[in-house]
Amino acid sequence: LATDKRIDGKAISAQVLSEVAEQVGQLQAQGVHPCLAVVLVGDDPASQVYVKNKLLRAAEVGILSVEHYLPAQTSAETLLSLIETLNEDAKVHGILVQLPLPQGIDEIQVLEAIKPIKDVDGFHSSNVGGLSQGRSVLQPCTPSGCMRLLNQVRADLSGMHAVVVGRSNIVGKPMAALLLQANCTVTLVHSKSRDIKSLCQMADILVAAVGRPEMIKQDWLKPGAIVIDVGINRVEKEGRSRLVGDVDYADVLDKVEAITPVPGGVGPMTIAMLMSNTLAAAQKQHKLLSIS
Ligand code: NDP
Repeated sequence: LATDKRIDGKAISAQVLSEVAEQVGQLQAQGVHPCLAVVLVGDDPASQVYVKNKLLRAAEVGILSVEHYLPAQTSAETLLSLIETLNEDAKVHGILVQLPLPQGIDEIQVLEAIKPIKDVDGFHSSNVGGLSQGRSVLQPCTPSGCMRLLNQVRADLSGMHAVVVGRSNIVGKPMAALLLQANCTVTLVHSKSRDIKSLCQMADILVAAVGRPEMIKQDWLKPGAIVIDVGINRVEKEGRSRLVGDVDYADVLDKVEAITPVPGGVGPMTIAMLMSNTLAAAQKQHKLLSIS
């Protein structure tokens, strides 16, 4: 049945969150209260929604949170000094600075200021480097969520050819690193790649993280491919506004072994993995887990 092919990110993220909640409970019994600090600079409406959702999920799994809302005209010095305070605060285990930051603040400088062990987004260069070396570090939430979805379809991805379309620092590149670590043969495709369609046709696993609505069609895929669609694109369809992925879901469904829908696929996993990272950071800071 076609519907059996749907990788249900909502259900799988609920499973992750319930595992996290259980372990948070165990930590609390030992007197450790996992805590996430969220910093939002400016009043971007989309960022406000993301932050609200993250705080709601944290509360649901028993993770404490502290919120810092700073005005758009905040100086880099003020933001860096707040991060320093949070770095030194033993009660805070994870620090998340919501991106994008207002113009004039250097994102890299800010992300580099977060202590790597509190970097629950996995964007610090020390964690990025650790990931590429195959060390056990805090991993970026969206790609690690994609891995969890893939492992739901196949526990062992060894030897599979994975094609990742998109090479951003937050999705494509770390996704390629995780797939390599899982013993896939990895092809990383981007806007300068030649003959993208033929490259996609080689994929046993196709991960689309492009930001182009329904770019990937049935004739781009190998029969039986497993498709992870990271794209979130708002389009006008039949007179109303809808979210679609980078893959044309209806068009490819017959051809694939399994596919994530948009919405309800990768999206819910991202926040679940953020909670999982906050738990791991707390465990590590209390020497209960070995990650470097
Ligand atoms: P970016 O815009 O940072 O990166 C897009 C990548 O796609 C770039 O590497 C670009 O190549 C490549 N690209 C663009 N056009 C083409 C093309 N025609 N053919 C091949 N490659 C192309 O996006 P993000 O990685 O941040 O996000 C990608 C998508 O995923 C977006 O829709 C975003 O909304 C969504 N997203 C979803 C998340 C979730 O939780 N589900 C989380 C994060 C993102 P080049 O580098 O050469 O420019």
